Amino acid sequence: MSAINQPDTSVFNQLSIFGHQKVVFCNDALTGLKAIIAIHNTTLGPALGGVRMWPYKTEEDALQDVLRLSRSMTYKAAISGLNVGGGYAVIIGDSRRDKTEALFRRFGQFVKNLNGEFIAAEDVGTNTRDMEYIRMETEHVTGLPESIGGSGDPTPVAARGVYMGIKACLKELYGNDNLAGKSVAVQGTGHVGENLVKLLRDENAKVYVSDIDDDRLRQVAKKYGAEPVGHNSIFDLDVDIYAPCALGATVNTKTISRLKCAVIAGSANSQLEDETLHGKMLLDKGILYAPDYLINAGGLINMYSEIARFSKKRTMQLTENIYDAVRNVLKLSKAENIPTVEAANKIAEKRIADIKKIKTSF
Ligand code: NAD
Repeated sequence: MSAINQPDTSVFNQLSIFGHQKVVFCNDALTGLKAIIAIHNTTLGPALGGVRMWPYKTEEDALQDVLRLSRSMTYKAAISGLNVGGGYAVIIGDSRRDKTEALFRRFGQFVKNLNGEFIAAEDVGTNTRDMEYIRMETEHVTGLPESIGGSGDPTPVAARGVYMGIKACLKELYGNDNLAGKSVAVQGTGHVGENLVKLLRDENAKVYVSDIDDDRLRQVAKKYGAEPVGHNSIFDLDVDIYAPCALGATVNTKTISRLKCAVIAGSANSQLEDETLHGKMLLDKGILYAPDYLINAGGLINMYSEIARFSKKRTMQLTENIYDAVRNVLKLSKAENIPTVEAANKIAEKRIADIKKIKTSF
């Protein structure tokens, strides 16, 4: 029994808070596998999500991460109109040291035992080779290399979605979505960041870039004619758009007071340190925030296309729909004077509720 006034940190309580359906703890002495698969919601279809391999300091950290990530996949799929639910898996370990074929195949056996309730995909610390190992044990995996019939690199698709999201915000603010002459600060010149810089420069936007990896920064800046800036000064630039394409939580109380942009739209997951607090702060400051899980859904759309056997053309069409989806979010946010992230959540939750009704009432 928990003591009076102590927060209830039990696993079941945490599952109840976020509304998770199922969490599977995978423990295997033979391969050293310690993994957690979280299935948040399968109303729209099987739970599709990444497999993250990370040396979590504690099991509690691993559980928190997988619960948070799986929930966001439910919202991402729902608002993107995809027929998949939300799930995620974490493998506790160092991806540079602890990877073996046997470990991933054992993980694949755990996925197989879920009979299609969870579909695994690549994420931080895993790659297409690891997905191939999982595929040796189960068909419930996506994001395989193109050479074996998979959907291949998702990052150009993810960048395309972010670009459409940026344009939808410009349309809202200026009545046209022309990027020529607009200035954009892209934080992170990694896989998605670089693809985004290319799209922006192709349309003659003025682009500033930052990265903690100096070589990468210089290389991308030179290749596309972007201006490199220090990674600490990116928040102080007088630009139209801030595009976070590195890690999460860069939009917080400290940075919001420094930002001078009109729009925040980038690929990073969980950009707002605190969804409720910082969503409201942005609304009050008049900064238009394109919800991250909506505009970075191109990666998920690419993986979904592999399962649904969509052509590349169809995948890109679905990704371009992000433009209209953002317009709808902004419309609702304006009509109800609520933060854009709250508006996005409402739209995603409504779709899930509506589909649940028709599935349970026929
Ligand atoms: P990546 O690892 O290729 O690139 C991230 C880049 O950010 C790296 O170059 C890194 O050096 C840089 N970086 C890290 N901290 C930084 C800081 N403080 N300031 C500036 N730069 C910093 O990753 P990616 O695949 O390009 O993904 C970028 C983001 O988009 C991640 O948050 C990811 O979760 C998200 N995302 C990726 C995809 C995808 O398909 N890869 C899809 C949706 C969302």
